[in-house]
Amino acid sequence: MTGLQANLDKLEEAIGSACRAAGRPRGEVELMAVSKTFPAQAILEAASLGLTLFGENRVQEYASKAAALEPIRATTKCHLIGHLQSNKAARAAELFDGVDSLDSVRLAERLNEAAAKSGKCLPVLVEVKLSPEETKAGLEPQSGEMAQLLERLPGLTSLHMRGLMTIAPWGAPEAQTRTCFRSLRTGRDRWAAAHPRLNFDVLSMGMSGDFALAIAEGATRIRVGTAIFGKRTPEQR
Ligand SMILES: *Cc1c(COP(=O)(O)O)cnc(C)c1O
Repeated sequence: MTGLQANLDKLEEAIGSACRAAGRPRGEVELMAVSKTFPAQAILEAASLGLTLFGENRVQEYASKAAALEPIRATTKCHLIGHLQSNKAARAAELFDGVDSLDSVRLAERLNEAAAKSGKCLPVLVEVKLSPEETKAGLEPQSGEMAQLLERLPGLTSLHMRGLMTIAPWGAPEAQTRTCFRSLRTGRDRWAAAHPRLNFDVLSMGMSGDFALAIAEGATRIRVGTAIFGKRTPEQR
């Protein structure tokens, strides 16, 4: 058994028990394997073990792996989960099967234009900032830009709004992490009621250290890197 298989078995057990504890079916929680900093070979191996959804946080890095991933192109998907500058929107729309870190109206417009050009409908998640850390990307839930983006999205017909993403504060106490995940869910309920033309099915929250809490608070997608591929060197969040 490879290290990857052992990690996956352990992870699957933990996801299963978090789902049971939350009284939710395992099928409600999608597993995204976050492969940033790991080589294409690791992604190919993970795909051979049955993983189908991957997350990368940099356009350039994924572009350098893309050719080697051609054999699994049709059977797997890879989404961008890191901050995207508008000037890289065209490249991202071309490379990725989804952008889970949409955080401005300008970026949405650029992505929409690029997706339209490549005849593609690009799934997107809006990233919400629910943590006070300066470094965290995402839109403040009460911000004017958030409101504008949700108003604008139905008109951007080459983007397919699927839901919301958030990153919990780094190393915060459990109660604070839980509050963050809960606010994403209650925010979703509010926004979904106010924007019936938009889809808010996906709640992407929870990483290696906090996915059990995220599942308890309603995550439909968890983004797991370290618990699958091991520790990143150099350390990169
Ligand atoms: C790196 C990263 C993850 C995975 O983090 P782990 O702690 O390694 O599971 C999840 N989401 C985002 C946005 C990331 O950048």
